[in-house]
Amino acid sequence: MLCIVALLGCGGTAEVQREPLPTPERYYILLDAGHGGFDGGAVGTVTGVQEAGLNLQVALLVQAELEAAGARVLLTRTGPEALGDTKKADMARRGELLQSEGADAALSIHMNKFPDPTVKGPMAYFQAGSAEGEALAARVIAALTEDLGLPERRPNPGNNFVTRVPTAPAVLVECGFLSHPEEERRLQDPAYQSTLSKAIARGVMAYLQEGEGEE
Ligand SMILES: [Zn+2]
Repeated sequence: MLCIVALLGCGGTAEVQREPLPTPERYYILLDAGHGGFDGGAVGTVTGVQEAGLNLQVALLVQAELEAAGARVLLTRTGPEALGDTKKADMARRGELLQSEGADAALSIHMNKFPDPTVKGPMAYFQAGSAEGEALAARVIAALTEDLGLPERRPNPGNNFVTRVPTAPAVLVECGFLSHPEEERRLQDPAYQSTLSKAIARGVMAYLQEGEGEE
């Protein structure tokens, strides 16, 4: 507020460029980069790229987009390491973070794999039975398919740790298939990762802003 008072206080300074006030952080979002450390996740069939690294790259881009949109973001991991020495310890810590108090949404970033190499495209899983999770996942998959120029796709019900554990509405985003050679290449392309991240963030923000009208 000080800067506004100062500006109003001195007349005849129309040329002064007013700094935009920072957007208040209206939303608190938990963001999980799947796997890490000893658990590399899915492996690309052509290049051998590991899912865990790609998940982190996309998650960091999503974080930047969400923060630019005025959200506060808590990442479950910011580096390549796992969250514990064992799968059990990792899941315990991840679960703790995904239950952080006051969160408006939780999302977990993954890359998919399937025996049929022609299967491709993003998917969004919600916890079966969660109407809010389904609404969030629907917004995210709609933004992804729209921005990637793909046919509409429904969100998928599932029963995954990262959608089951959070108290906030949660979505597991499968960005694409590492078993599809062309998609495996694209998922490593910074420009494609950026498109994915913008779409994911746009979907999450659309869900959160939609909810505001019902308050
Ligand atoms: Zn995964």
